[in-house]
Amino acid sequence: MNSMHKNCIVCKNKDIFTKYIINGFHIFQCRQCSLLFVGEKLSQEELKMWYEQKADVDCDYTYADQENIENLKFYYLKLADWISKKMPTGKILDIGCSGGYFLDYMKGWDCHGIEISSLYAEKAKAKHGNNIHTGTVEDYEYKKEYFDVITLQDVLDHMPDPLQALAKCNSLLKPGGIIVIKVHDISCLFAKLLGPRFYAFVPIFHLVYFNKKNLIETLSMSGFKTEEYKYLAHLLFLKTIFYRLSQDNKKNFFYKLYNVINRSSLRNIKIKKNLYDIITVFARKEIV
Ligand SMILES: [Zn+2]
Repeated sequence: MNSMHKNCIVCKNKDIFTKYIINGFHIFQCRQCSLLFVGEKLSQEELKMWYEQKADVDCDYTYADQENIENLKFYYLKLADWISKKMPTGKILDIGCSGGYFLDYMKGWDCHGIEISSLYAEKAKAKHGNNIHTGTVEDYEYKKEYFDVITLQDVLDHMPDPLQALAKCNSLLKPGGIIVIKVHDISCLFAKLLGPRFYAFVPIFHLVYFNKKNLIETLSMSGFKTEEYKYLAHLLFLKTIFYRLSQDNKKNFFYKLYNVINRSSLRNIKIKKNLYDIITVFARKEIV
């Protein structure tokens, strides 16, 4: 039995309440900053065990599905382009780098990564060697003020203590360095319509659920000034939409539809998706 958070994990306010219970986990909301987060306190050890167990199963559909890695390229290329407009080259750290799929597009950069799952870390190591750390940002020992850019894609919302993680990022970045955060924006219309059935509500995979406002505030508390944010489109298989709508329930109508599409010539059809459900924020470490 885990003990529960007594305060908001970001703004530390005590005025928190249970918004949803999903898969047996409490989703708390803070009345001060509107942040949603998993109420149960989970240790790094518990999380690490969980990732080791799930990594080779089906859990993170986005990464486990080899076909979908191809689709992620669409986003990676846009992000690589956006970064290179701000900084032509330098040292980059991708936290939660998976198999190094994004770093593959940062040609000419000194590429480093951190990955909790040893299975994926090994894939990244095959390309980037000892620049890949198997573990978490908390146990990453590296030179202070070394990196020009740090990216966290679908990662900050997996972390039990976002402020602690961002403080570490701040110490690793050069003054004036850039941090890029990609997370779900829980204030999008799609999430509002679906409530607890919004596809991003997957505790304990996602531990924190940001909106644009409290994400920018969280960055500001951590010494970062937000310069820009974008809602970049993603490329997706048509069938993936129905799969997600089914929430992996094989008796669900959408699952049956997914199955029909998957067996037909429609299975390779891709669509461009932008529901304003995924935000990418660019912020700069303030020079003090
Ligand atoms: Zn709060």
